[in-house]
Amino acid sequence: TVNLCWLRRDLRLLDQAALYHALKSGNPVVPVFIFDSDILNDLEDKHDRRITFIHDTLEEMQKQLARLGSTMDVFYGTPTEAFQYYIKQYDVKAVFTNIDYEPYATKRDAAVAKMLKEKKISFHQYKDQVIFDRNEVLKDNGDPYTIFTPYSKKWKTLLNDFYLRPYPTEKYFRNFYKQKIKKIPALRTLGFQAGERHFPPIKVKDSLIEKYDQTRDFPALPGTSHLGLHLRFGTVSVRELAERATHLNDTFLGELIWRDFFQMILWHFPHVVHQSFHKDYDNIKWRNNEADFRRWCNGETGYPIVDAGMRELNATGFMHNRVRMITASFLTKHLLIDWRWGEAYFAKKLLDYDLSANNGNWQWAAGCGCDAAPYFRVFNPALQAQKFDKDLKYIRTWVPEFEELTYAKPIVVHEDARKRVLEVYKKALDRP
Ligand code: FAD
Repeated sequence: TVNLCWLRRDLRLLDQAALYHALKSGNPVVPVFIFDSDILNDLEDKHDRRITFIHDTLEEMQKQLARLGSTMDVFYGTPTEAFQYYIKQYDVKAVFTNIDYEPYATKRDAAVAKMLKEKKISFHQYKDQVIFDRNEVLKDNGDPYTIFTPYSKKWKTLLNDFYLRPYPTEKYFRNFYKQKIKKIPALRTLGFQAGERHFPPIKVKDSLIEKYDQTRDFPALPGTSHLGLHLRFGTVSVRELAERATHLNDTFLGELIWRDFFQMILWHFPHVVHQSFHKDYDNIKWRNNEADFRRWCNGETGYPIVDAGMRELNATGFMHNRVRMITASFLTKHLLIDWRWGEAYFAKKLLDYDLSANNGNWQWAAGCGCDAAPYFRVFNPALQAQKFDKDLKYIRTWVPEFEELTYAKPIVVHEDARKRVLEVYKKALDRP
């Protein structure tokens, strides 16, 4: 008999909760990964770099497993089909996996658990991708927090070494199931082509994290970790990173707490996937002008900081956090376009795309989120640029023509847009 360790957003062999428990349980372990055809079919870009990243990571893990005389067994199809195959292929005793808090994943896992139960196979889930689970940081009355600051305070009071300790999987590496290497389906087989491979490095220097609070707001500086992609797919352990943050920089730790916060919000309030956290914000009469939306997507709004951000995103799959806030505010408030349109565009483009963080931050920018910027706060893109890109270095990199006559005329006048959005929001919210 074997145990399966079903990998998803935890693509590493070290300090991995489910893998640790699977290996420790005594049965030989087969790591499995499913290229979920339901998810892949929804991706329009057949060069999607995230698929290349996952594929490269699995190949790398496969090499490590080969050195241990073992292999991963990667399947392409639906999760149900995959488990029918695995059950035929192996005498499976139990399946170990880490918790995924997204609504699709929750449903998928419940369906798989049910199917396994009918076959008398147990299904075990562990916390791995967050420091504190959805129900570990609650108000004294047991309700989930909806405001970040008190959540963060409580999070910090609960933190101790126990939560940061790595899972020593390497102690049990001998327990991987020994068999011949199985081929990972080629990208072509999955319907994809290799995308461009410039992925951010996994190693981040202490010196960067130490200065994070001073550098993080300036998009021209290499002042943030660029670890979003690695946290998303679990190629780094959040425990290891949080442990470093506790010594190096409290502001950086705060960002990891935001990450936990939004995962917790998504779990407790899954309506946010389609609706505003505060539902009265769904009364807003968005303009939803498609031509304006296209100009925003392409970085042609005539506002250099907005255009720089969108072009950075289109070219690299990354956008600096300060500029994400500016572009999101611009779309929703200056152009009065539904935050869900912007959210969907980011979801397609961001290498570090994560439903909980993307949704939470878009709702924050639009003012409709659980702990959002007040609706009457409308970022002034010109002032933001002056403050955070004083020397125009970031803007010049992405919008080299911005001082020339050929550069796009502003899509709206800031003051007019500000008045318009305040009226529309007030009306929707019935505020005086
Ligand atoms: P760093 O600044 O080095 O931070 C370290 C890590 O902390 C990040 O990698 C991320 O995992 C976490 N983090 C930082 N800020 C936040 C935050 N505000 N909310 C939640 N987690 C945070 N982050 C995503 O991971 N995925 C998204 O899809 C995403 N969409 C966003 C959309 C908008 C409109 C905005 C304003 C922000 C979004 N963010 C998202 C949050 C943030 O912008 C990115 O996490 C960050 O810019 C990634 O760069 P980094 O890895 O260098 O982060």
